[in-house]
Amino acid sequence: MKYTESVEKSAEFLRLAITHMARQKAGYHPQSFAVWYEHVSGSNNLLSEELGQLQQKGILLTDEMTETLYSKYVSDCDADATQRVHDELEKILRNIVASTREAGEHSSRFDHSLERYSVQLEEKPEVESLQGVVRALLTETRSMRSSLSSLERELSEKTREMEGLKEQLRLVREETIIDALTGLVNRKVFLERFGLARHVPDAYGNLCLLLADIDHFKTINDNYGHLLGDKVIRQVAQTMNATVKGGDTAARYGGEEFAILLPNTSIENARKLAEQIRLKVERIRVRRADNGSTLGVVTLSIGIACFRPGDDADSMIHRADMALYAAKNNGRNQVMIEAE
Ligand code: GH3
Ligand code: MG
Ligand code: MG
Repeated sequence: MKYTESVEKSAEFLRLAITHMARQKAGYHPQSFAVWYEHVSGSNNLLSEELGQLQQKGILLTDEMTETLYSKYVSDCDADATQRVHDELEKILRNIVASTREAGEHSSRFDHSLERYSVQLEEKPEVESLQGVVRALLTETRSMRSSLSSLERELSEKTREMEGLKEQLRLVREETIIDALTGLVNRKVFLERFGLARHVPDAYGNLCLLLADIDHFKTINDNYGHLLGDKVIRQVAQTMNATVKGGDTAARYGGEEFAILLPNTSIENARKLAEQIRLKVERIRVRRADNGSTLGVVTLSIGIACFRPGDDADSMIHRADMALYAAKNNGRNQVMIEAE
């Protein structure tokens, strides 16, 4: 489930969301509610940032703007793109059916002609009649051939069109699972994989979870701007991706937060890996595009939790989050393991 707040918390968000909605031009429809709910619950940083910018400019959301924000930041998949591919595919299939039917009718007419000519041959074996039959057969065969080759052309053209659609679908799907900024899988995929890994019978003691958060990231954004902030997020993500391997999953969990799932890994090995990542991040030097100078040191705090019987995603994420919180409180730039 995407939303996991308690009833009380969600009631509070509901009230806040409605207050926001009342100030806009858009109607009180579910998409509008989803947009404002995500904003007030603080669960969608990018959406909040765009809303913040619009609010700063005093712009009120229309239905259309709300819809755009919804498909950009809330819905899992680009519904328009999927619908477009679906419609195209339907058109192609209709064309193929029509052309094969046409070729089928032509070929059955051809069959009947052949039959007719063979009867004619049996009845009149003279030369003139043979010549007539051969001429007619030639004409029919040519026309049949041209009908078949136009079907072939048509089919190969449709095959090409379908290859194009397949690629479009791949891209739409990729957008729903890959985080565009970092190329890591997104939170949704992470939670799906987490759900699967949890059911592996020997998971106890062998499935570890790392939650990592860039330290003082707001200061980086404030000092150097959002674009450079993005560059930092990308480089940290690349470092993580290059350090994990095999069945591990490194995901962008939120703005500047990452989650790494380590199946078949002891807590000690998880700690070693986290430490490796922490040290590598410390060595990252991000360059400013304008003057080529490098930013100060970027650091990462990491919390680790390991699977315990009865754990679900929430309980394990909660313990990793507590460990991360302890790492922050303890001075940041460090790895902390969950409490006993
Ligand atoms: P702490 O050490 O306690 O983690 O401090 P922090 O400054 O990192 O605090 P916090 O985690 O609250 O700040 C995260 C900031 O990251 C807030 C948000 O504006 C920014 N952010 C979230 N997503 C993005 C993004 O995609 N790009 C950029 N540039 N900034 C983002
Ligand atoms: Mg954070
Ligand atoms: Mg942070």
